[in-house]
Amino acid sequence: MKQLVILGAGTAGTMMANHLVRKLDASEWALTIVDEHTTHYYQPGFLFIPFGTYDEGDVSKPKTDFIPNGVAFLQEAIDAIDPDANAVVLRNGERLPYDILIVATGAKTVPGETEGMLGEGWRRDIFDFYTIEGAVALRERLRNWKGGRLLVHLNEMPVKCPVAPLEFTLLAEAFLTDRGVRAETEIQYLSPLSEPFTKHNCALVLGSMLDEKDIEFVPDFACESIDPASKKIVSYDEKELDYDLLVTIPTNMGDPCVERSGLGDDLNFIPTHKHTLQSRAHENIFVIGDATDLPSSKAGSVAHFQAETLTENIQRFIKGQALEEGFDGHANCFIESGHGKAFLIDFNYDVEPLEGAFPLPLVGPFRLLKQTRINHMGKLAFRWMYWYLLLKGIPMPGISHNMSMMGKKAPR
Ligand SMILES: Cc1cc2nc3c(=O)[nH]c(=O)nc-3n(C[C@H](O)[C@H](O)[C@H](O)COP(=O)(O)OP(=O)(O)OC[C@H]3O[C@@H](n4cnc5c(N)ncnc54)[C@H](O)[C@@H]3O)c2cc1C
Repeated sequence: MKQLVILGAGTAGTMMANHLVRKLDASEWALTIVDEHTTHYYQPGFLFIPFGTYDEGDVSKPKTDFIPNGVAFLQEAIDAIDPDANAVVLRNGERLPYDILIVATGAKTVPGETEGMLGEGWRRDIFDFYTIEGAVALRERLRNWKGGRLLVHLNEMPVKCPVAPLEFTLLAEAFLTDRGVRAETEIQYLSPLSEPFTKHNCALVLGSMLDEKDIEFVPDFACESIDPASKKIVSYDEKELDYDLLVTIPTNMGDPCVERSGLGDDLNFIPTHKHTLQSRAHENIFVIGDATDLPSSKAGSVAHFQAETLTENIQRFIKGQALEEGFDGHANCFIESGHGKAFLIDFNYDVEPLEGAFPLPLVGPFRLLKQTRINHMGKLAFRWMYWYLLLKGIPMPGISHNMSMMGKKAPR
């Protein structure tokens, strides 16, 4: 038997297991997926936990519920990849040989990268919401918060779901308004970018939204350190800002097993061909999801679109055919804006978010770059689609993996 090994049973790895078990000849290929954890978290749901909209049970299910028959699940930590020997080294010392390897080990927050972040203030008045523990701790802190200076801080790009920090800021504004403490609260959004978002069209729309809500955008803020004793965040160009509550999105990095394998860049992301998803260094290694170094967004929707191309390319690779340059950087993200409304954006490597209707031209029902209630309903419905369609590799109605220009127009 030939061995196809998938590293990571998160969003991307689980989808690939479901796609490939249907496509590969089971008499020739043995499929194994490795992950150290048994719980699958719906990470987009972490955004809602601090505000009490979802709780822990709404965002977690056993990983094995989504791993299909015909794929072996190995619960073990990955120590390293030995590409010269075509083997994965597990933390228990075992070696797992492979003919084809798919790396889907994702990205994680590393608060220790910033001086002072993990000090005495961590989860006292410095919080994250990118982990289940952080989101739950922040919920408890926000429950009785009386207001003050709230700083939402994006430390460094790239991060998973680059719109989530802005969504958090807008949802926090709505939550504090509803709780009657908005008048006592000043909100600032600190970013290392010059605009509120990486895509200019969308940055303009979101920037005016921040103005409308009286949220100050602090651009080009490159954080040097945090002083938890005096509750100050300090930039390299010596700006100092006080906070009562600091909600930070720490540096995101690929897993340390990538670094130990010598396969990553300085943030442990793996150099990957941007259209085929083949590793740039080893032809029988493919990379998908947040683990890549690609300029596409690190998002579950992106991993879903990548999975279509990667499934095709694994089959082509096995047959010795040229790979399809099929992945166009397509990303599709709802952006919660508070009080039951949301935006939707759809873009790829070459095309910025445009106005229009999605997924059906003219009909929608979702509106691109516009704030609507139905977009918010779509964001909430996405959790169901994630568990029951996306993870299982079932096509999403009306949504193609390449970005469509039908029904789109540039904003006025
Ligand atoms: C707050 C927040 C909001 C988000 N909102 C959205 C959204 O609205 N829309 C959207 O599309 N995306 C969103 N995302 C992003 C989305 O969740 C990720 O992009 C997606 O989960 C990436 O999938 P992945 O498979 O690459 O990584 P993951 O799903 O993180 O999976 C990686 C897996 O690898 C395993 N692993 C890693 N290293 C090892 C090791 N050494 N040994 C064993 N196992 C290992 C991990 O345990 C994990 O199960 C959000 C993320 C966050 C944090």
